[in-house]
Amino acid sequence: MTHIHFLGGCKTIGSSAYLIEDDEASVLLDFGVSFGASAPSFPKLTRPRNLAVALSHAHLDHSGGLPLLFASGAAPVYMTAITRELVRMLLKDFIRISEYYLPFEEYEMQRLFRRVKVVRYDEPVELGNGTTITFVDAGHIPGSAAIQVETDTHRFYYTGDINTVQTQMLNGAQLPEKSPDVVLLESTYALTRHDPRTQIEKNFVEAVSETIESGGSVLVPAFAVARSQEILCILAKHKVECPVYLDGMAREAARIFLRHPAFFRDYPLLRGALKKANWIRSKRQRANVMNEACVMVAPAGMLRGGTAAMYLRQILDDTKNAVMLVGFQIPGTPGRNLLENHVFDDGSGLHKVKARVHLFDFSSHAGQEELLALGSSFSNAQNIFTVHGETESCEFLATTLREEHGVNASVAETGQRIEL
Ligand SMILES: [Zn+2]
Repeated sequence: MTHIHFLGGCKTIGSSAYLIEDDEASVLLDFGVSFGASAPSFPKLTRPRNLAVALSHAHLDHSGGLPLLFASGAAPVYMTAITRELVRMLLKDFIRISEYYLPFEEYEMQRLFRRVKVVRYDEPVELGNGTTITFVDAGHIPGSAAIQVETDTHRFYYTGDINTVQTQMLNGAQLPEKSPDVVLLESTYALTRHDPRTQIEKNFVEAVSETIESGGSVLVPAFAVARSQEILCILAKHKVECPVYLDGMAREAARIFLRHPAFFRDYPLLRGALKKANWIRSKRQRANVMNEACVMVAPAGMLRGGTAAMYLRQILDDTKNAVMLVGFQIPGTPGRNLLENHVFDDGSGLHKVKARVHLFDFSSHAGQEELLALGSSFSNAQNIFTVHGETESCEFLATTLREEHGVNASVAETGQRIEL
């Protein structure tokens, strides 16, 4: 008997964890953390027989619970080579900065990394017991994968986080060669239509150039993994001529990227862009650098701490300057508050922001059109389950696929265990 057990990551973004079980073996797809208003929370797993774990990509909402599996027990954990390095960096940082009790520490993390098995895209891996997994490029961040699982009876396809649109750094997702029976489809932006990438890039570059020409500085708060480096690639590609700086954990992620050329669409562009940028090296540099007209790319992407928050305090009082947000801002974050109210709460108090504030939708997820195209391409699937999105997004995607494309799609619920 084959089952799929939705342990987390349904009707929400966070704690992604999906377990495929048959009589012989179990494959766990991701095991992430959820960052709620209070303490971080994790999916619950009663350890099944012959467990193997496959990690789609490094982001903590997919990987942040993995060390928990090593508190009492072990299992092989499959991931791509660059994911192994990125997830180590993110987990270390997660443990270091956590203000809450975490049910694991460095010790469990080290045990986890002893069991990591590196996989390449498109090369099937036999797990034994008649089960095979194959990682396919998902185009979301470097090393991200959609995962195919073939058991004796079913062929599964889990999109992980997926982007079918090409960016400066990455190719769009590869689609599976064999049509799947059961699909787990992410739904993050099922309600959002992204503007064409080229148009967003053009608008961004124009806004940066205008600010620089009028003598202002530009702060780009960006996620450390992928978005920061993508922004540097865009500036390089469009030949924006001004000093560009990189700070925070984006530097460590960039060093990892440079060690893995095979994961990039245009590695020379990436290498050139990273070489051209000035990497912040000292506290003294941090104190003075924004006095000149320049672009600073620094995490955190939603201004929850990181060096970006520090730079914002330096530039917020001058209308010549600009803050360019380059990703979705979750309600309740300092970034969202800045965007809507032109204020910045850095914990010490509320500051009025006179600098201009812009938002550019550089998404690393498929938008509505792309998700519908992807979902409707699986017309032979026995089941499509929408996961990884807010409730309305998961429902819209499942309903539209069912009613307009005749696909057997439904919304998965956390805790649900379905016999296939
Ligand atoms: Zn992700």
